[in-house]
Amino acid sequence: MPMPGYSGAMTAGNADSILAQERVAAFHRDPPLCRSFPVRLRNGTQLRGFRVHCVGCGRELPEEAVHGRLVEVSPTVRRVEATAYCGGCESLISLEGRYRETGSGHDFEYVGGDGRWHVLRWQPPWAQRLRTALARWRRKEGPR
Ligand SMILES: [Zn+2]
Repeated sequence: MPMPGYSGAMTAGNADSILAQERVAAFHRDPPLCRSFPVRLRNGTQLRGFRVHCVGCGRELPEEAVHGRLVEVSPTVRRVEATAYCGGCESLISLEGRYRETGSGHDFEYVGGDGRWHVLRWQPPWAQRLRTALARWRRKEGPR
């Protein structure tokens, strides 16, 4: 399915660079990323996917504008390889991320608009309550 304004991106953008050509190819090759979800990790955590905001204009991109795959790197790590198309600023955005199983939850590590890795930590509500209760107990029992 060609995206509206797509050919505009080819002419107005830096389509002559190899990177841009690779992004265009990846976008056409891969199915919408949302089809890879939901995924259940070994510890029972369900991955439902994530929202993508354009690094250029900040708008939230619709699911069908994000194409890519989840790659099983190891039993506890899934890598996200995706390309998103923003109709607002007619640009293709490369997305890089990793889901990593942690105890009863998971981390989502991703490269942000600043080019650095960020980590979002997710834990099931019962595990969070347990941690909060333990922290409170430790403060009470701590050195005086
Ligand atoms: Zn944009």
